[in-house]
Amino acid sequence: MIEFIKRYFLAIPIGFFTTLKNMLRKPVTFQYPKEKVPMYPRYRGLHFLERYEDGTERCVCCGLCAAACPADAIFMEPEETEKGERKAKLYEINMLRCIFCGFCEEACPEEAIFLGKEYEFSDDDRSKFIYTKDDLLVKWPRTKPSAVNFIRKKRRPFME
Ligand code: SF4
Ligand code: SF4
Repeated sequence: MIEFIKRYFLAIPIGFFTTLKNMLRKPVTFQYPKEKVPMYPRYRGLHFLERYEDGTERCVCCGLCAAACPADAIFMEPEETEKGERKAKLYEINMLRCIFCGFCEEACPEEAIFLGKEYEFSDDDRSKFIYTKDDLLVKWPRTKPSAVNFIRKKRRPFME
């Protein structure tokens, strides 16, 4: 008898209650692309090349990032500045090869290359996935604060 009451009289109010409960719950979905989920501090997205506070490029074209890259995605050519310092004349990353492992960031002795949080860089033309120095180097004057201190604290706290 109890089973009969449960099945035929309680099922409907229980069903309505479940529906009501879920209607009042905060949605777990996002209206992408209007709304964007903030990325975790350790998220590794599109690369960028950092500068010093005076605007000088940090990268000295030492080639360690390319040597560490397991996907052979980085290509560079060095040049000498007027002051006799070394910098990259050409610096390219093939994003179709890149597996976003972050080894280039770890290998860089100058804290010049980082993987940022940008994940919207899909395209329909393969040639657009070769990111050049112009694409990667942070704009100057800066529009955002330098990422170096943030990344030291969040990604490499053991280095403090
Ligand atoms: S993230 Fe990994 S695969 Fe991509 S360029 Fe850096 S080292 Fe190479
Ligand atoms: S990004 Fe860093 S590791 Fe790569 S060439 Fe420049 S200085 Fe060397």
